[in-house]
Amino acid sequence: MCQVKRIGVGVIGFGWMGQVHARAWSRLIHHYPELPGLPARLVHVSDSAPGRAESGAQQYGFERSSEDWLNLISDPDVDVVSVTTPNFLHREMGIAVAEAGKHLWIEKPVGIRSAETNDVVAAVAKSGVMSAVGFNYRVAPAVVKAKLLLDEGAIGRVTTVSSNWSSDYSAHPLGALSWRFTREYAGAGVLLDLMSHEIDLLRYLVGEVESTIGQVNTFIHERPKASNGSSHYSLGDSASMGTVENDDWASALLGFRNGARGLIEASRASVGDQNNYGFVLHGTKGFIQWNFRRMGELIVSSGNDYENQSTKTIFVGLDDGDYGNFQPGAGISMGYDDLKVIEASNLLKSISSGVQQGSSVQDALAVAGVLDAIERSIQSQSWEPVSVVRAGTLTG
Ligand code: NAD
Repeated sequence: MCQVKRIGVGVIGFGWMGQVHARAWSRLIHHYPELPGLPARLVHVSDSAPGRAESGAQQYGFERSSEDWLNLISDPDVDVVSVTTPNFLHREMGIAVAEAGKHLWIEKPVGIRSAETNDVVAAVAKSGVMSAVGFNYRVAPAVVKAKLLLDEGAIGRVTTVSSNWSSDYSAHPLGALSWRFTREYAGAGVLLDLMSHEIDLLRYLVGEVESTIGQVNTFIHERPKASNGSSHYSLGDSASMGTVENDDWASALLGFRNGARGLIEASRASVGDQNNYGFVLHGTKGFIQWNFRRMGELIVSSGNDYENQSTKTIFVGLDDGDYGNFQPGAGISMGYDDLKVIEASNLLKSISSGVQQGSSVQDALAVAGVLDAIERSIQSQSWEPVSVVRAGTLTG
């Protein structure tokens, strides 16, 4: 009998996201037993922090580990690579993965700016590998259902859109100055970290953005310098402070190509408000509302009443997105890590079918185009058009 080769996985960067990706690869067989190449083989993990890859390999069952990620790139048993390092490394690593002929699952943002994202897109296109980007919220079954309802015209034509993400991971004045707070390692702050997700979700649900005007602010200008291995959740010591170089808060007005108007906001310094992320889409016949903290629910008003129209709460069930791969009946909660399992399943489906499933590096490029326009508008203090970014050639 012909055995399908098990897919060999490499993970570069074994912080928060690296571990989430590794768990997703391991869990694929539990939720998608019909997919080829499973169970995934955890082959190689790399992290530059001394000892982190080695202990990660032991804990998660990787066959080998290295501190130098180039060892992973040249590992012949690795077929697909998760790039889960800080933002500034994504361009170089994404290109290297693609040029090595390995499939790419890369965290957002794919580049600090659209030029770098474009380089990864070009490398992926040239080598013909498949890609996935960590825009995990668009695979939440309730979000998939919202998309279906919109496409069916349940709320008519979308007129206005709002999306808000309040978080407190940088609200503490002694929160360590990790890579997330420097221009060199992160690029923009909450714009890239959280607003990139919001823009991806709104593009997916409503359509492309054609113009924007934004504003940003930084509330905590200095933080304790980070010790090796500090995450953005670690606290530091006020004896040695460094400068925060990017935004704690951002907001933007959006003009969509289809005429819808939008308002988005993201904060990493909202005291008492943790991961309060959601959207409200209003249309000519009703509205749809979703919040990540109640991930399996949609609040929907749909009908022909215009005034005093009723509103209901819908719990996702077996027919909604990939919910049935996780739970046997409606109303049972899913979690954040489950979204990463769905994302990994989309990449594996892309690899086995040769047809893109889920978000790709092209989506990251479109998001980067909107973020670039927001940054330009902050400088010009006027509305800026979103350039139609087409994947070009590698800029070298
Ligand atoms: P983290 O700081 O927890 O982990 C980063 C890891 O990369 C660390 O272990 C660090 O030692 C390692 N690293 C740094 N330089 C390296 C190198 N040269 N070679 C190998 N390893 C190296 O960061 P994180 O929170 O996991 O974020 C990583 C990426 O994931 C970021 O781009 C972030 O935007 C993204 N992210 C996405 C989501 C999401 O919901 N999709 C959530 C969090 C983070």
